[in-house]
This record gives sequence, structure tokens and C-alpha cells, in this order.
Amino acid sequence: MSKFLDERYSGLAAYVPGEQPQDKQYIKLNTNESPYPPSPQVLSAVNKAETELLRLYPDPDGRVLTKKLADYYGVKTENIMLANGSDDILNFAFMAYGANGRKSYFADITYGFYSVFANLHNSDYTEIPLKEDFTIDLPEFCGVDGCVFIANPNAPTGIALTLQEVERVVASNPDYVVVIDEAYVDFGTQSAVSLVNKYNNLLVVQTYSKSRSMAGARLGYAIGSAEIIGDLHKLRYSTNPYNINRLTLVAGAATIDSQSYYDDNCKTIMESRQYTMAELEKLGFTFTDSKANFIFAQSDKIDGGELYLKLKDKGILVRHFTADRIKNYNRITIGTKEQMKIFVETVKQILEDK
Ligand code: PMP
Repeated sequence: MSKFLDERYSGLAAYVPGEQPQDKQYIKLNTNESPYPPSPQVLSAVNKAETELLRLYPDPDGRVLTKKLADYYGVKTENIMLANGSDDILNFAFMAYGANGRKSYFADITYGFYSVFANLHNSDYTEIPLKEDFTIDLPEFCGVDGCVFIANPNAPTGIALTLQEVERVVASNPDYVVVIDEAYVDFGTQSAVSLVNKYNNLLVVQTYSKSRSMAGARLGYAIGSAEIIGDLHKLRYSTNPYNINRLTLVAGAATIDSQSYYDDNCKTIMESRQYTMAELEKLGFTFTDSKANFIFAQSDKIDGGELYLKLKDKGILVRHFTADRIKNYNRITIGTKEQMKIFVETVKQILEDK
């Protein structure tokens, strides 16, 4: 840290992204990317002509893509804002509604970036403990005095709230924004987008990084009331109006045109999730009820940290967290069927060698 850094940031613990070691080829099951490439339509949309247009700034409002998403979700374009990944939106949401001593609420075990953003923006935040079984303690999120951030399904547990439960939280906090982070919604959870026209304090956040195979392109979007979306645009225009590049915008539009390809991929990933859980169960693992493109697994036969290291040694990356309540678990992204077969065989071997 330099002597020049504003002291506000001296104690900041930055977010630590999933590792990307370069020493060899790994089966990468640690950052919840899709194992499948973008659709053929996306590949042909990112073509020579579009690349030549990189000399021009992109449309700061991404109007073509925004319109496609609005039609897809049955909302108006004023209800949608695009951003550079959903992290970009979460940052703006903390800045807008939870900063400078304002209160914010999120679970103690959830997406690790919430506490980073909360600290970055000097939020007076409260981490509400998940219940013993890792489910959200719903009443604790109702009738609070600050904005609320809930990942649904949650990460890294994958446990989902029902639409009714989400509505309860939104309806009980009419004076505060409730952010529902739906990064993993396409793998078996009902989206809260249908509530956007009913509640002006609801902000739904989604991403192209998981089900839509575009983590490397950085594209996320928020769906909410025109007032909230207007607030976010104001902050975005005050930060970087060109936060999404031209190639990402055309790739994003072509994605919506080939939605059935992605629906099929999600179906396959959900089948592979079932397969992986069934196989790991035979080996003595237990799980949370994940509705995401990852599972969260532990075993009494092997320590979570040890399993993570041994898998890495054998060329498979999974995500291990050191927080006390979850340190015996690993979060395992669901890859292709072939990758999950190799994963299961490798775990079997590790247990046999013990
Ligand atoms: N929300 C949750 C719950 C996540 O796990 C992630 C992925 N790390 C994100 C948001 C951010 O995704 P992105 O910025 O790639 O859209």
C-alpha cells in the first residue's frame, strides 16, 4: 500500500476471484462458468464488420440489446439497465442505496462481493446468519431499515427461495430497495422479474456469465422500476457511460436470438448436477439442495481443504472457502458430463488412497 492511498481504503479487503493457475491445463470447476461455448449465432455476430466498428464508441445505452431484453421479459426498456457484468450493477446498487453510513443487510454466507462493496462504500451493514441448515432466515430480512441484498439461489449453497418468499421480503420493506441477485436463476429457480411491475423497490440483477456462456465478455443487467433504473443510470453515467463494449453488445443480442440453445444447455447442466450428486452420495458426501450450476458438498471421510488440494494436484479446480461454518465444504461447478465423470472418478481415487 502506498502512502498516497486515501485512508478510507487502507483497511479494505478486496474481493478474491477464483484462481486461474497457468501451470497446466485444469478441469475448471471453480468459478461457475458454463462448460459450453456461446451459440453459433453469437460466434457469427462477433464478425469482421463488427470488429472494424470498434473504432467507434459503443451506444452508452445499448438500446438494441435493451429492447431485446425488455421484449424477452415483458417489461419496458426504461425498466432495464445493462452493465459490465452483474458485479457492476451490485456496485452501483450499494453506492446508490447502502453507502455512507446507510444500512444494508445480507446473509453471513453469501456472495463474497457484498461485504466488499459494503466496505468500499462505507455501508453500515449487517450480515444475517443463515439458519443451521444454511437456509435464509426470512423473517430477519423483513421489515428492516436498510437495503437488502439476497442472492437467489444463494451462493455458495445454491439454496433457493420461492417466489412467494421473495415477495414477502420485497413487500415488507416498501421504503428500501431489495436487490435480488439472480446470477444462477436459470438452473431451476423462479425469477422475481414478474414482480417488477408490482413493487417499485425491487431490483432484479441477472448476468450473462453463467447460463449464457459469456463470463469473458462481461455483461449483466438490472430489471426494476423506472425510478430505480434511473438512479443507476445516473451513477453509471457518472462513472463510465461506455461500460459495455461493442462486441459484447452484439454478442448479447445474438444470445437472446438463440435462447433455446441456452435452455438446452441448462437442462443438460441440471441433469449433470443430478448425476454428480447421485455419484458423490454413493461415496458418502452430503449436500445442500442446490438449484444452481454448482453443488456444495462435504464428507466426513475427508476434510474440505484436503479434498480441494488433492483435486488441484490431480488437475481439477474446485472452490474451497475458509469461513468457519463452511470450511468442510467445496463448491463444485457442474461441467460437461465427461468432466463430471472424471471428477467423480478422481474423488473416488482420492478416497481410496487415503
Ligand atoms: N452474483 C453472484 C451470486 C455470483 O456468484 C456472481 C459470480 N461471481 C456474480 C453475481 C457476478 O457475476 P458477473 O459479474 O460475472 O455477472
